Amino acid sequence: MSNPVLDCKGLERTYTTGPAEVQVLNGVDLQVSKGEQLAIVGASGSGKSTLLHCLGGLDEPNAGTVELNGEPFTALPESKRCKLRNRYLGFVYQFHHLLPEFTAMENVAMPLLLGRKEVSETRELAEHMLERVGLKDRMSHKPSELSGGERQRTAVARALVSRPSCVLADEPTGNLDPQLAVGVYELMMELNEEQGTSFIIVTHDHTLARRMDRVLHLENGVLRSVDT
Ligand code: ADP
Ligand code: MG
Repeated sequence: MSNPVLDCKGLERTYTTGPAEVQVLNGVDLQVSKGEQLAIVGASGSGKSTLLHCLGGLDEPNAGTVELNGEPFTALPESKRCKLRNRYLGFVYQFHHLLPEFTAMENVAMPLLLGRKEVSETRELAEHMLERVGLKDRMSHKPSELSGGERQRTAVARALVSRPSCVLADEPTGNLDPQLAVGVYELMMELNEEQGTSFIIVTHDHTLARRMDRVLHLENGVLRSVDT
């Protein structure tokens, strides 16, 4: 694969709780190309969230490396890793994790402000992104004033506003009614096409997973491809 967006080799993660040692990731290799849509499926507790956290530099693997656009992500000190994460990655979680005190617009603008963009430009980009996800009329609503689907669409807008190379989504539709889940999922796929963003989506929903370019199954700490 030429110039993968994300290149992960030999990832291992063990949790030690008292005397018990649990090896969750046992040598995960994964390459994601530009604009690729990837689904990761697996039983509850198989380590899907752990894997996404390690890929996104939110958790430290015990062994293995992750490169982001050719830069040695895992080997960097936290401050540099933060910068790369902000520049190249977007995150969507099962529960939106929007900041309750801020409006939809401010929540979407946050990654840009952290990336030190100018305030007026930030506002414009955030408003444009919210319009794109169909929330033109909800800009000044706070998360508590939005429906579940609207909150998740705001979270998608926040993940994509900085035009990341790759979005990591952990069961982003797991908390929504099936119909709303399909809407959020389709929105992500449209943005994938428009912006050429790679998507790694962890999901329980095999129907949604099968509509992606590639499906991988996490079991016994390793990834295996699933025929679709
Ligand atoms: P999934 O997202 O596939 O449901 P997780 O990655 O959340 O699975 O968890 C995988 C395994 O690792 C589980 O057995 C869980 O108990 C364990 N685990 C996850 N996080 C921690 C932690 N911080 N400390 C100890 N064990 C953990
Ligand atoms: Mg999980």
